[in-house]
Amino acid sequence: MENFTNNKRVLQEIYQIVALQENEGDIANYIPELAKVNPERFGVSFLSINNEEFGIGDWQTKFSIQSISKVLSLSLAYKIVGDKIWERVGVEPSGSAFNSLVQLETDNGIPRNPFINGGAMVICDVLISHLKNPINDFLDYVREISYCKDIYFSESVAKSEASAGYRNIALCNFIKSFGNIKNQPNEVLDFYFKMCSIEMSCQELTKTFLFLANSKFRTASGDIVLNLGQAKRINAIMQTCGFYDESGEFSFKVGLPGKSGVGGGIAALYPGKYCIAVWSPKLNKKGNSYRGMKFLELFTSETQLSIF
Ligand code: GLU
Repeated sequence: MENFTNNKRVLQEIYQIVALQENEGDIANYIPELAKVNPERFGVSFLSINNEEFGIGDWQTKFSIQSISKVLSLSLAYKIVGDKIWERVGVEPSGSAFNSLVQLETDNGIPRNPFINGGAMVICDVLISHLKNPINDFLDYVREISYCKDIYFSESVAKSEASAGYRNIALCNFIKSFGNIKNQPNEVLDFYFKMCSIEMSCQELTKTFLFLANSKFRTASGDIVLNLGQAKRINAIMQTCGFYDESGEFSFKVGLPGKSGVGGGIAALYPGKYCIAVWSPKLNKKGNSYRGMKFLELFTSETQLSIF
């Protein structure tokens, strides 16, 4: 990519600036296991579509990717069933909390988008219906698109989330009551909690998201993963719904499609140019990484590498 040297310099400078500023926000503690992470962890990884890579801080340390995994489950379900997927989940920002039950009542169990919890559960349900060994097959898919063999979920985080998952359990059963979950709620929730507990480093995340940034991307077996039109749509949903009830703000400040998770990770990309991942566990009031947002805002402003 033009100016990789300059980008590296900017990444380093901004990392130092953000690391010196006060680290605001709170670590997610509604999943007990997540509250054990050191809140001062901070890593950034950058990968251009020409494979120019740069990382800084804790960029090779694995963390719980949580909702970032929802982009990967959506991409696999979309690959398997195609446009029929949109009959079961919408593509509009919800304007409410990611774990809210309210709209489902009036929307007859069709979640507003695939990144709120209810929508992600419907996608998990689709995958369970189509995969032989759902979680293993899903992990294999992630390993294949990322070229990273060492991808697993954390048994302890999955258990921790299940033990405190009253609202998610309610959501899944509620959607089932409308007929938009076909398998048993327990099975869907088990897959959902395990998927959210996948652990990756920032470096692995940029590699994993490359297929959405690089139209020439192929897996080792020559697979294109998604066609151009499909990748465009996933990126569009990330742009409008990827940051909880702060997606507008993220678009406004950063200007990249992306997805965050309550583990403090953010994966974002510029189609045709690069992927970037940031991890810092303290979250702002909307549930997005405080430092992650700050870092990306400064990075896209300084380099003018935002899509707008
Ligand atoms: N597993 C988390 C939950 O369902 C995902 C939260 C997130 O990262 O948005 O609450």
